[in-house]
Amino acid sequence: MGIASLGVSANGSSASAETTGRDQTTKSDPRTQYPRPPFPEQSQPWPGLASKMQPRPDHGETTYRGRARLVGRKALITGGDSGIGRAAAIAFAREGADVAINYLPAEESDAAEVRTHIREAGRHAASIPGDIRSEAFCQRLVAEAVRQLGALDILVNNAARQQSRASIAELTTEDLDATFKTNLYAMFWITKAALAHMGPGSAIINTASVQAYEPSPNLLDYSQTKAAIVAFTKSLAKQVAKQGVRVNAVAPGPIWTPLQVSGGQPTEMLRTFGQQTPYGRAGQPAELAPVYVALASAESSYATGQVYGASGGSGNP
Ligand code: NAD
Ligand code: MG
Repeated sequence: MGIASLGVSANGSSASAETTGRDQTTKSDPRTQYPRPPFPEQSQPWPGLASKMQPRPDHGETTYRGRARLVGRKALITGGDSGIGRAAAIAFAREGADVAINYLPAEESDAAEVRTHIREAGRHAASIPGDIRSEAFCQRLVAEAVRQLGALDILVNNAARQQSRASIAELTTEDLDATFKTNLYAMFWITKAALAHMGPGSAIINTASVQAYEPSPNLLDYSQTKAAIVAFTKSLAKQVAKQGVRVNAVAPGPIWTPLQVSGGQPTEMLRTFGQQTPYGRAGQPAELAPVYVALASAESSYATGQVYGASGGSGNP
């Protein structure tokens, strides 16, 4: 059976997959399915743009085909303009969800591309730019998402700050503060505000990292936040199980995104990014989209307090 004959999803979003003749379920060799190192030398000022990366990351734009797994859901995704958040945004929309994305104002051009994909899937796209290091903004973000979408069923806490520092001597209090505010405080503020709107069947997904389990020497502050996200996920899951809300995390390995080329890694390490994995390559955001969809969907009804690892063959959990 060809892809075209598999039918169009509830929102008519499979046209792009039909055009390319390949979707995320086509059998292929995971070692060679996506670009392998070496990557061309590059660096961007933080927070970086997906549109300026070489090669451009694959967020599933031409390959993700929905199967009506999130029909009618309302989702808020932080860092939804690029990388893993963008892949989740495109997939959620093609599965039938309306999607609000948060990002920094400097990322407007990346966000515009995501809005186009959400609208092409026939879903409502809400854009709520702003800096989540502010508690007041985090509260406005949730209120605005609920206002624009009409409800909130899915929250993806995905935005993060990762800035490489070779030594603790170079890591400033300002660095520590910015990383903890972005990766932890914002998750706390946004989740607290969102839970007031979430009923039984709702799902929260936090983006942790392989860094929670195998921290790199140059990511002292970042790796601490990722370990804390795992503990936050497991603790909160137990707390809100009584409300019928599920809370899970995804722990990716090396994924080709703006985070890495805008200070997340030293430029010399980018050339071989992902080479140390058993696959010998970096992952692409598109490869994580099905994990976010599965955790958001009612199909995962017995999964809460879990961490899903996606590291190309190594790492935990
Ligand atoms: P990305 O750069 O595409 O996404 C990170 C996003 O965070 C940015 O797009 C930006 O919108 C947002 N952000 C950062 N600071 C912000 C602030 N102060 N206010 C509002 N938004 C802010 O990179 P990505 O790799 O897709 O990152 C997504 C998540 O994946 C992060 O939690 C990251 O820690 C995690 N992760 C990434 C990798 C990897 O190798 N790329 C590995 C493990 C985990
Ligand atoms: Mg971005």
